[in-house]
Amino acid sequence: MSKKYHIAIIGAGVGGLATACRLAHCGYHVEVFEKLPECGGRAHLIEDRGFKFDTGPSFVLMPDFFREVYEFCGERLDDHLKLKVLDVNYKIFYPDGEALTVYRDLEKSAQELERIEKGSIPQYYAFLKYTGNIYKTVEPLLYQCFSLRSLLDIKNWALLGKLKPWLSYWELASRYFKSEKLRYAFTFEAMFMGVSPFKAPSFYSIITYTDHVQKIAHPMGGMAEIPKSLERLAVKKGARFYYNAEVTHVEPKNDQVSVTVNNEEKIFDKVVFNADYCHSRADVLKRNLPDYTYSCSVYLIYLGLKKKVKGLEHHNLFFAKDLRRNLREIFADNVTPDDPSFYIHVPTVTDPSLAPEGKDILYILIPVANLKNGPSDVPAKENAIRQLVFGKIREIIGEDVDPLIEAEHKFYPEDFITRYNIKCGATFGLAHNLMQSAFFRPVNFDQKSKNIFYVGASTQPGGGLPVVIAGSRIVTDLIK
Ligand SMILES: Cc1cc2nc3c(=O)[nH]c(=O)nc-3n(C[C@H](O)[C@H](O)[C@H](O)COP(=O)(O)OP(=O)(O)OC[C@H]3O[C@@H](n4cnc5c(N)ncnc54)[C@H](O)[C@@H]3O)c2cc1C
Repeated sequence: MSKKYHIAIIGAGVGGLATACRLAHCGYHVEVFEKLPECGGRAHLIEDRGFKFDTGPSFVLMPDFFREVYEFCGERLDDHLKLKVLDVNYKIFYPDGEALTVYRDLEKSAQELERIEKGSIPQYYAFLKYTGNIYKTVEPLLYQCFSLRSLLDIKNWALLGKLKPWLSYWELASRYFKSEKLRYAFTFEAMFMGVSPFKAPSFYSIITYTDHVQKIAHPMGGMAEIPKSLERLAVKKGARFYYNAEVTHVEPKNDQVSVTVNNEEKIFDKVVFNADYCHSRADVLKRNLPDYTYSCSVYLIYLGLKKKVKGLEHHNLFFAKDLRRNLREIFADNVTPDDPSFYIHVPTVTDPSLAPEGKDILYILIPVANLKNGPSDVPAKENAIRQLVFGKIREIIGEDVDPLIEAEHKFYPEDFITRYNIKCGATFGLAHNLMQSAFFRPVNFDQKSKNIFYVGASTQPGGGLPVVIAGSRIVTDLIK
């Protein structure tokens, strides 16, 4: 380290927290400014009547990326987080009443697939072998920042040949599975990046590979333990945190950067934006934004139930009758689907500490259009959606949900703007389509000022907890 820079990090989301840990560990003076009263950003927790509702991420995938940030700081992940690997990865409920369970045990999952599509077992293993090879290629790249200039490097052309970005996630799955049911089962993860599987490049199939092969974990005590543990580590390494501290203006000044927070100007050597990239550029740096494509938004319902219910797993996916129409409505027509696909998280299956004894949590996530083309129609449609979703839940648990509700919270697309400053209410940030992935995703450094950097879901390498954690290493390496 040449100089003990004073560094401001704007935002205490997981990307900002991981960057604070690394930079403070490297000996820099780190100050984190967060507009909200607590850390975590999208990985937020609501506590109500003894229920602990994790409101955002629910899947822990790619545990090596979590391990790496603690090891970078000279610590062991196991001393900070208790990750429990799930025996049932998830259960998919098809609209015709059929269901598919994906287990931690690959052979058990293979038998499930065979039940749905005869002859699919060898195809399953071939898919995992192919996507495993992509994973091996992509994993080290997630710690690198690629500028458009890198496209001139002949080494990277070979990479393109290997990753086949022109092939979509859906087209790749279709090469292995004949039935639409399995094609959906092997591409639904695209929705968790906020993009249609018909538009996501095939290399995102590494997510399917990781959830089948590296398994899915749950941090005991809830997902919010992840940001909380990172905050503790950053503080231990010397970082300082300021909450209720919204940054409204950032401007390069001489060889430093001026940061206005709560109307007070502060000067730093370097600034790292963890706040949503588009908000940072448009509202804080006051620059024009290109015409980006944004991910979808989501409508969320969190329920604390008076008792435990049967029939649901920790992670549950319900597919719409006409999934193509469902995707078209969200991504092309910009309307809330009348028959939506949705996801239900029941963390109390694995972690009863999240609810009072004998009670359950249901977290319901419904992908809907973002707000780029105007206000959301969710409020107008929410009663109908609720009835439809609750009807499907009743078919599984065998009783009405409404009379069981003891605590309830909701989160609308507009809330992503008011709470987190996320442009267009795009839950997962910029869409992960081909033209906004890899070389084409915003880089982690500022092209006008050598003292400004970006980390988080809408920058390289992309969104999702393990990936923003990898982004924190890119920014740290750039600053060092
Ligand atoms: C509903 C939902 C489900 C998800 N599911 C999964 C999943 O299962 N697994 C997974 O890995 N990922 C999942 N994700 C994605 C994952 O949560 C995000 O990619 C990740 O949390 C983004 O972290 P971040 O560091 O980019 O920023 P954020 O979490 O967006 O944090 C940025 C912070 O900056 C603050 N801020 C904004 N503007 C300012 C300002 N001007 N001044 C000061 N502070 C500011 C915000 O308040 C916020 O705290 C999910 C996300 C959501 C919302």
